[in-house]
Amino acid sequence: MKDRNKKNMKYVGAHMSISGGVENAPERAHRIGAKAFAMFTKNQRQWLAHPYTADNIQLFKQRCQAYGYSAEHVLAHDSYLINLGSPDKDALEKSRLAFLDEMQRCEQLGLILLNFHPGSSLKKIADDECLRLISESINITLDKTKNVCAVIENTAGQGSNLGYSFEHLAYIIDGVEDKSRVGVCIDTCHTFAAGYDLKSENGFNETFEHFEDVVGFKYLRGMHMNDSKKGQGARVDRHEVLGKGELGIDTFKMIMNDERFDGIPLILETPDEDNWAEEIKMLYNL
Ligand SMILES: [Zn+2]
Ligand SMILES: [Zn+2]
Repeated sequence: MKDRNKKNMKYVGAHMSISGGVENAPERAHRIGAKAFAMFTKNQRQWLAHPYTADNIQLFKQRCQAYGYSAEHVLAHDSYLINLGSPDKDALEKSRLAFLDEMQRCEQLGLILLNFHPGSSLKKIADDECLRLISESINITLDKTKNVCAVIENTAGQGSNLGYSFEHLAYIIDGVEDKSRVGVCIDTCHTFAAGYDLKSENGFNETFEHFEDVVGFKYLRGMHMNDSKKGQGARVDRHEVLGKGELGIDTFKMIMNDERFDGIPLILETPDEDNWAEEIKMLYNL
């Protein structure tokens, strides 16, 4: 389809594997027809990893260029071990070092977006204290790096994870000194599970009006496109294939036809990888 419609401004992709090296991600994304992609900068379940070789870096850059992926459409994701709001001094220090390493890896690859889950109070400190620690962690990391934007992902509010309300995201942003290098990634499954209505047209409109008031679309640097296995307000993070969960396909139709979501990576993290090429095609046809 070569017709110029709104969908030409949409950059849909999925979270690609980096097995065998980060340089394999762009090719995998290209193979499923993605116009954007996400990836971990290293094994997400380990604190430490080997630095990139000159080859990793050169091939990654070459392939991104060859397949037409520019830096604003590649959403790097940090390790799940990192807790930038940890109440434990040693764990916080370890997390901050690991987060710095992640951001430096992005710099090396020429990437500008690093997506992360804000952090958890572990119910040992007050929420606002935890949120302040997260802002401080971001400030420390931004001071030591250049160009890369810290992209805070909203959460489902599972356990003691913060970042489930737009107010939390705004509070963290408020504490960040360089506002040009902080942004947010909104996950549709997390938003719905956290209690926001994204299912009905009215609910969708109200939720994003509220988002604009509290956070602002100017901070929106990416979306995670996931249906939800659990209902609205369940506070549980369980992704589902688009159209097969509690959200349903209309939510994604509204996103695909709304220019507020133009120009940013729209990333699938749905359970069935083999279905991603189909899901991408389906989204463009909505
Ligand atoms: Zn997500
Ligand atoms: Zn999730």
